[in-house]
Amino acid sequence: MTITVEQGSATVTTHFINGEWTDAESPTFAVTNPFNGEVVAEAAAGGRREAEAAVAAAAAAYPAWAALAPGERQRLFLKAADIVDRRHEELVELMAVEGGASRAFSSFQIRLSSAMLRQAAGWGYLPAGDVIRSDIPGRTATVTRKPLGVVAGFTPWNGAFYLAWRTFLLPLAFGNTTVIKPSELAPMSAGLVHAEILEEAGFPAGTFNVVTHAPGEAAAISDVFFESPAVRCINFTGSDKTARILGAQAGRALKRMVLELGGFNPVILLDDADIDESIKAVTFGAFLHQGQVCMNSRKIYVDRSIHDEFVAGLTARVKSLKIGDPRDPEVIIGPLINERAVQQIDERVQDALNRGATLETGGHSDGLIYEPTILTHVPADAICTTGADETFGPLLVIEAFDDVETAFRAAQDTPYGLSASIMTRDRSRGLDLAERFDTGIVHINAPTMASEAALPVGGVKDSGWGRSGLYAIEDFTELRLTTVSSKPGRYPF
Ligand code: NAD
Repeated sequence: MTITVEQGSATVTTHFINGEWTDAESPTFAVTNPFNGEVVAEAAAGGRREAEAAVAAAAAAYPAWAALAPGERQRLFLKAADIVDRRHEELVELMAVEGGASRAFSSFQIRLSSAMLRQAAGWGYLPAGDVIRSDIPGRTATVTRKPLGVVAGFTPWNGAFYLAWRTFLLPLAFGNTTVIKPSELAPMSAGLVHAEILEEAGFPAGTFNVVTHAPGEAAAISDVFFESPAVRCINFTGSDKTARILGAQAGRALKRMVLELGGFNPVILLDDADIDESIKAVTFGAFLHQGQVCMNSRKIYVDRSIHDEFVAGLTARVKSLKIGDPRDPEVIIGPLINERAVQQIDERVQDALNRGATLETGGHSDGLIYEPTILTHVPADAICTTGADETFGPLLVIEAFDDVETAFRAAQDTPYGLSASIMTRDRSRGLDLAERFDTGIVHINAPTMASEAALPVGGVKDSGWGRSGLYAIEDFTELRLTTVSSKPGRYPF
């Protein structure tokens, strides 16, 4: 199968199980372009039967994959990276029509993805463990890192192409095999196109499997993941709301879970911040992919002495962003993913305005496009400013502060803990605040969304746990202790 999306002609997709494109007797469901409502794909609506077959295939492929020589694995990963680069333009098109991603966002994901594949190619050569000194004469103890077995992954629809690689690739690189359940909103860019790429690269059958499902039918597949003894870890990227449901299931099944969840990512602009640089960083950090990325900035705390200049400059820059069909390479702001997303943003904007907030720009929708919106003077009880619930769209709140410690406490007053930024010319002031931030990530003089393939992205508190990049070795391997005794033991009885 080759996923190519022509305007007006829908692709028909199937599951990918044990190296075969198969739809068994699955019915299909429509995947639509959020910009114009056109059907871009008819995707297979799988369930329990397909999930069971996929888990069985991954379990059967595991021993050989775990034992494969590091050089063999490296060759496959490097080939996959080259295929990603070769298919750049097709992937841009796919992400635009399926997820409303601008070229700026899809190219960013493609670069990160091939970089991560190339990095992961070498991980098979990492030291396999340690030798530990024993107090018992004649005993040698070794600790070896072993893969877990089958890792089942859930991918989200947003940033789907890169995040699905993260879901597949990190477990595979450490010797696990995988089954992926992509988001029903973007099954191609959240999993199926990866299967095509890994198949072409020559990954053995069963090492990765993809099962898609219709809206509202995720549970039939995820139940299989939790019930199967072969599945040793659930790798989930998505919202904290879904994570709470699945986390309860993981608790009952005693399954290890990796959780990459949402955030309410603040930026603090100190009085010595470079204002022009801050305007650029905040525009990118808040409005990349229409604010539908876990690490987008949601609230900016600005020293009152630079507040007005910053707000005026930011508003002008945001107003200049081109809005429209993301297939146009000049467009930065495309559609939100669905009507529910538009409603959430609109309700939060109206709630803030009703309470007396000032609208600096935005506040209107046209179809699924919501203008990038900036609010100032937002009363403390407005939903969009409390930090209690992630706002997932192009809405940014700006607040002036007189005292940095008060602003810092307010910025921390959220159940989330994913990313934060501090803009300052004074490195030591920045580091002082950075050290105290209760987040998985903090940047000084960069946007809250400053990803690189090698960086260990992940959160604390309600933003989840687990890290990407090389540090994912902690999530997708376990330690096995082996001792060898060469002298008779001394026993108390
Ligand atoms: P979501 O939680 O709705 O869905 C995520 C996955 O869970 C999808 O595959 C979906 O089909 C599945 N799912 C949803 N409900 C389910 C259920 N009841 N049973 C089984 N599976 C179910 O999230 P989304 O809307 O796809 O993605 C956006 C969210 O993900 C945001 O909160 C965003 O911040 C977060 N996110 C976090 C990161 C990160 O790295 N920290 C990255 C991207 C997205």
